[in-house]
Amino acid sequence: MRLARIISLLEEEYGLPRWAHEKHRPLDTLVGTILSQNTSDRNSIPAFANLKRKFGSWEKVAKADERSIASAIRSGGLANIKARRIKGVLSQIRQRTGSLSLNFLAKMPKAEARKWLMGLGGVGPKTAAVTLIFGFGMPVLPVDRHVLRVATRLGLLQKGTSSTKAHEILDQIVPDNKKISFHINLIQHGRKVCVARRPKCSQCVLRQMCKYYETEVQR
Ligand code: SF4
Repeated sequence: MRLARIISLLEEEYGLPRWAHEKHRPLDTLVGTILSQNTSDRNSIPAFANLKRKFGSWEKVAKADERSIASAIRSGGLANIKARRIKGVLSQIRQRTGSLSLNFLAKMPKAEARKWLMGLGGVGPKTAAVTLIFGFGMPVLPVDRHVLRVATRLGLLQKGTSSTKAHEILDQIVPDNKKISFHINLIQHGRKVCVARRPKCSQCVLRQMCKYYETEVQR
């Protein structure tokens, strides 16, 4: 099957990614993902570390004013918007559950857990999926801009498919035990080879099964 071959070729190229979700706290993952919105890991990881260093606990972040949160996460970009979003998410979690923990989601079916997270302001399908797969080990596929672009060029998605629809489609077709591998390796491929402008098709291990290569390059 074509998708299985794509996954296998990417694993040969980039390795089989492993992730120990037990070592990560789900609420850390959620806040870290909000911080990563519209910026690179290089900016968001130091912003996350600084936020934790400055406040020490999510309880203290929830009580802090937005300006003080924004100053801690300045390096992550869009600091004022993200500070409001983080404080809002923490307040909503506390209001809805009585505490600042997401551990209860582990007992929910994944569709229900995703719906619960997406009920928080500022949490879209990608942030919810990242939190569930990397924070809980649930088989949910996050679709970021690299995954969307590469999957579309490969022909796994139709041109113009929205991010929300892409989450639904790819989540259904990628086997559960390959979701982390597919997500991480497609991002690697999108950063290194299938870049946004001028994809490096001549160096690509997937070109024999790529719709873009067949229709735009080989013509
Ligand atoms: S052949 Fe080109 S367009 Fe297709 S996946 Fe590879 S780099 Fe991307």
